[in-house]
Amino acid sequence: MSHHKLGFKSGLEIHQQLDTAKLFCDCPSGLRDDKPDFEVQRELRAVAGERGEIDVAAFYEQLKGKHFVYQGYEDTTCLVELDEEPPHPINPQALEIAMTVSKMMHCDIPKQAQVMRKTVVDGSNTSAFQRTVLIGRNGWIKVKGRKVGINYLILEEDAARRVKEDSTSVTYRLDRLGTPLLEIVTAPDMKTPEEVKETAEAIGMLLRSTGKVRRGIGTIRQDVNVSIKGHSRVEMKGVQDLRLMTRYIETEVKRQIKTKGKEEPHVRNVKPDFSSKYLRPLPGSARMYPETDIPLVSLSLRGVEVPELISDKVKRFMKLGLSKDLAELVVKERGELFEELAKKYPKIKVAFIAETLTSMLRELKRKYDVDVGGLVDEHFKELFSHLSSEKISKDIVLDVLMDMAKGVFDIKKYESLSSVDLEKEVERIVSANKNAPFGALMGMCMKKLNGKASGKVISDLLKKAFSK
Ligand SMILES: [Zn+2]
Repeated sequence: MSHHKLGFKSGLEIHQQLDTAKLFCDCPSGLRDDKPDFEVQRELRAVAGERGEIDVAAFYEQLKGKHFVYQGYEDTTCLVELDEEPPHPINPQALEIAMTVSKMMHCDIPKQAQVMRKTVVDGSNTSAFQRTVLIGRNGWIKVKGRKVGINYLILEEDAARRVKEDSTSVTYRLDRLGTPLLEIVTAPDMKTPEEVKETAEAIGMLLRSTGKVRRGIGTIRQDVNVSIKGHSRVEMKGVQDLRLMTRYIETEVKRQIKTKGKEEPHVRNVKPDFSSKYLRPLPGSARMYPETDIPLVSLSLRGVEVPELISDKVKRFMKLGLSKDLAELVVKERGELFEELAKKYPKIKVAFIAETLTSMLRELKRKYDVDVGGLVDEHFKELFSHLSSEKISKDIVLDVLMDMAKGVFDIKKYESLSSVDLEKEVERIVSANKNAPFGALMGMCMKKLNGKASGKVISDLLKKAFSK
């Protein structure tokens, strides 16, 4: 099946949570699974927007006629989430991240940001609207040499989290409500399902390059818009796993071939078995009106610094001598520290530095069941300074890290003996065991000098003493 012949067109809407406090209050972002401190019950109904129409999607939700229950916590949700207090000014950190991404995506930005209200009547916002602010438009990114247009870059608040539903009510938890979300809307520039997947990956990588987005399940969500010639646009919601994305899209294309000309534009939920289910009509355009509780914010890209892309950093580390896998791993885990150490200690092999910061920690955890969570940058800096001044040898780095992780590291235990002392010690062992074969002597030396010199140094000294 040729996607070109089918007139396949696809665009993405990506929602990424930012790693900051909430957008319009000071509460922390992040989900909680412990018992909520309180519950409140609300009724919501759709009202006509300023333009006098009730939005079609809003009306559809209202038909369901349920009441809503909201659960919250005394210490991590406040009156803003309950819509009992006006929103605070927009979170400056979240705004800064949005500006950074706008610049990375070559977007135009308005001189002033106007927070808008977007009608929501499924109960997922206590105020019955979602606050949203346009930060960038008309941008582009490069994906595998192709240019993909970025139509909009929007900063908005995440909705409350649906935790329960029965025939008369829907229960939401307020922990997620107000979490800053960056919404990125691409142009329908993708001509094959594979291109959609590559674009989603590239945008995810770009967002992670800021170092300021939330990570883990549910922190990034992508909706895929798909249409073929003669079929109206369908938005697929809930495509989480990028590895499965092309298969979801192919399934939707097959469905559209069968329903050509018969369907209105609408939203579908995808299911784990790759099928999908009608959710609601596509939202119309009557849902936005200005948020008058929040003043306009001036925007400027001057002075906004653009971080290096993760993919560029990986390439740079590969040029220093790392394999692709190791470069990717160290960028993901301790890229900045790796760079600092590699620069400071040019005589130490870069691969050894990278392995110490990544795979060695895994080994400690897996083989020796050591909790390495307490190891911070300072530990590694100390370790490499001792290595560089040859106070400790490379062979015992694992032991040093183990002691550091357990909080019992003491350099005195490890300090390599001076080479004169070492030589004397080896000679003493040799003369005390005159008839012992080389192997046995090596064993005795290693036992006695364990951690104080590398096996190679000991073996060299032993060869010298043995042949005397
Ligand atoms: Zn709050």
